[in-house]
Amino acid sequence: MKSATKYLTFEVPKRMDFVHITPDVEQVVEQSGVSEGLCLVNAMHITASVFINDNESGLHQDYKEWLENLAPHDPSRYRHNRTGEDNGDAHHKRQIMGREVVVAITKGRLDLGTWERIFYGEFDGRRSKRVLVKVIGE
Ligand code: ZN
Repeated sequence: MKSATKYLTFEVPKRMDFVHITPDVEQVVEQSGVSEGLCLVNAMHITASVFINDNESGLHQDYKEWLENLAPHDPSRYRHNRTGEDNGDAHHKRQIMGREVVVAITKGRLDLGTWERIFYGEFDGRRSKRVLVKVIGE
């Protein structure tokens, strides 16, 4: 079995934003030499997500408004912030957008649906955070 491990680092300048990372993940798969296998991509922080959906800016704006309605950034609203933090909303946003994705590798390529793209979702930005990409197969 072959494997490859890579840590991608992001420092998103806004509190909440989405970064298209499909090309970064494709590069790890290419370098791994794996032709049949699986690729795991996960956020390594509890206020960030990795998810798959359409690379369409209107949808992303809709997501931001939807998430802000579900979990507004209002530091007085969350028990979590009694610890001195102000990111209670970001933990909730991460929870609903998910921690990781797993994509099949077929003939050396990510086997994504036609409109599927991989995104890093940041909900408490302006600091450096990591995403793990792990490829296994043969
Ligand atoms: Zn926190």
